[in-house]
Amino acid sequence: MSQIAFIGLGNMGIGMATNLVKAGHKVIGFDVSAKARDSALAAGCEVVTDIKEAVKSVDAVIMMLPNGKIVRSVCADIMSVISSEVLVIDCSTIDVATARDMIATASFKNIDMIDAPVSGGVGGASAGTLTFMCGGSEEAYLRAESYLNVMGKNIFHAGDAGNGQVAKICNNMLLGIHMIGTCEAFNLAEKLGLSAQKFYDISSTASGQNWSMTSYCPAPGPVESAPSNRNYEAGFTAAMMLKDLRLAQDAATTVSASTPLGSKSEAMYASMESANKDSLDFSGIMKLINGSL
Ligand code: NAD
Repeated sequence: MSQIAFIGLGNMGIGMATNLVKAGHKVIGFDVSAKARDSALAAGCEVVTDIKEAVKSVDAVIMMLPNGKIVRSVCADIMSVISSEVLVIDCSTIDVATARDMIATASFKNIDMIDAPVSGGVGGASAGTLTFMCGGSEEAYLRAESYLNVMGKNIFHAGDAGNGQVAKICNNMLLGIHMIGTCEAFNLAEKLGLSAQKFYDISSTASGQNWSMTSYCPAPGPVESAPSNRNYEAGFTAAMMLKDLRLAQDAATTVSASTPLGSKSEAMYASMESANKDSLDFSGIMKLINGSL
């Protein structure tokens, strides 16, 4: 069993760290928040208040942090302390450029590092069923697999450094777009006199079928487990979706890729933020479309 430093024990990190503990690993947790550290202690982690203390004499460091700026600063702290035998896995969703920079910096010090952002949300983190999208060398990926298998169900090697982030933001850009399209279709159907249930029955077996419709239907009724049936309580918040859409737009600019629907989706989720409704589930974009925001 390994000794692992887990940095960032928030909504996602705590479930992931708990699963590593349950699998028999020794987990040393670090978070700037005392509340997060207390939860980690209760979950069976050892907890320290100095990041350098957390990473000394571990086999691997796993990060689950809010953004690229914080990942950069944490990497600067840990890279000066760890030896080249330590594997670094960054599971945070961050910009592609930072992910590539950090892995290049690690490689310069002969440290194996991968970007490994996830999908599956807080439920997937605590159930150990996350999907991991990994970028980095084959060797680093193979070393990480045994840890990722404890925290997730579907593990993909997407290619070189940063490609995990590429997969994540492209997937979530597509998700944002088809969620908005699905809302538009249900709203129009209803206004024209076709019930949500009847439209669902037809479209879910026709060519309009998509994940936003069948797993997460933004119109209340057809999919019982969907947030639309609990007043759009998150789930995956509109704020998280906006974060990912912004990352996608920033990345698109760097390579002059045309993403008109991604750009429009970003603007619509930004309207939810301006209306202070971004703590709703991202399927709550239905409220913007049907005028009830
Ligand atoms: P969160 O805000 O709940 O947790 C982040 C944690 O990092 C917090 O506990 C915070 O105190 C800690 N932190 C901040 N700065 C730190 C530092 N310098 N050193 C140590 N700890 C620090 O966020 P979350 O929901 O757990 O998300 C984490 C990452 O996972 C984000 O990149 C997010 O985009 C991604 N993600 C989240 C979800 C989701 O559904 N919540 C789904 C997929 C991906």
